[in-house]
Amino acid sequence: MFVYADNAATTKVSRKALEAMMPALEDLYGNPSSLHQAGRAAEAALWNARERIAACLSAEPREIYFTSGGTEADNWAITEAARLGALKGKKHLITSAFEHHAVLHTMQKLEKQGYEVTYLKVHEDGLIRPEEVAAAIREDTALVSIMYANNEIGTIQPIRAIGEICRERGVLFHTDAVQAVGHLPVNVREDLVDMLSFSGHKFHGPKGIGGLYVRKGIPIRNFMEGGAQEFRKRGGTENMPGILGMAAALEEACSHMAEDSARVARMRDRLIEAIGKLPKTRLNGHPSQRVPGNVSFCFEGIEGESLLLRLDLQGICASSGSACTSGSLEPSHVLLAIGVPKEIAHGSLRLSLDASNREEEVDYIIEKLPGIVETLRDMSPVWEEMKA
Ligand SMILES: *Cc1c(COP(=O)(O)O)cnc(C)c1O
Repeated sequence: MFVYADNAATTKVSRKALEAMMPALEDLYGNPSSLHQAGRAAEAALWNARERIAACLSAEPREIYFTSGGTEADNWAITEAARLGALKGKKHLITSAFEHHAVLHTMQKLEKQGYEVTYLKVHEDGLIRPEEVAAAIREDTALVSIMYANNEIGTIQPIRAIGEICRERGVLFHTDAVQAVGHLPVNVREDLVDMLSFSGHKFHGPKGIGGLYVRKGIPIRNFMEGGAQEFRKRGGTENMPGILGMAAALEEACSHMAEDSARVARMRDRLIEAIGKLPKTRLNGHPSQRVPGNVSFCFEGIEGESLLLRLDLQGICASSGSACTSGSLEPSHVLLAIGVPKEIAHGSLRLSLDASNREEEVDYIIEKLPGIVETLRDMSPVWEEMKA
């Protein structure tokens, strides 16, 4: 059996997304900036995709800027918010310790440029406390950037409460919603966010395309120099297949989100229950305040990498945390941020399901995993002492 349980790393392009992309690769090859009929046809398709994506997020089409993905959107939002703050003498930024590296590394870049960054503590349950955001805001705070849902442990942050605080205090609020869009009912108006990043390949759209929502009236500038595309803020001929594919994928995900998330959450909870019964095993993050498909555990006495290899031999694709940190020997910064001890953080496993998964696949994982954990522990020199 082949089971793909790594949907937080990336997803398979859906049939509908693929069908939406084909015209852009065949007949719709005009440049949307061209004035002739081929260009106008492409421009119309581009605008239509922008409208549909905006509708899924309760935004306006003019508030959506297409980017090359979540990473670019995060870099752009944070760098520009910092620049806007500096114009008013505000050079303090607030984020959390368990953000994606696209956010953390941008913050570190800004620190080198003279900004001061507060990294909020993440509690053991994988959640940020809104009152701690409020307490960290100063006179010179330019931006709060807190992710919507964490990519490793799946916890959903109190975005609306943080949004309220930021709106009241007059501080820009950005959220990296890459793990949320297409999976949770994201609404930029109700969530009171000023900027929001998303990425097509996390919800069955293609890779290399994403976007940034910027609330109208926020005078962000272009991130790269170039042509007049994306309302003069992001030059470069548009990635038409990507944009059309992403629009179709998002619309599809949003059209049956409620049913899908209930079904996916049931599969998640079956896995959490079964894995939680194994000895010396801990669930990472809040048991219910998490995205429907995220299952994240640490197994004492085991190396996450060996676990992944053995699961792979059984046809199960999983992850030890995030795709970005695998290959490095450092334990995940997310697990360390929620207080998991270093030795234990090495034994992490993330299974990320979504609407593309089936119950039989969950049965199969539940059948295979306990035996693998036991075998690895039997081989482990430290396990003997641990289990005592
Ligand atoms: C995947 C991911 C990103 C990066 O998105 P890309 O489109 O791959 O650049 C950023 N943030 C989070 C939370 C992610 O899961």
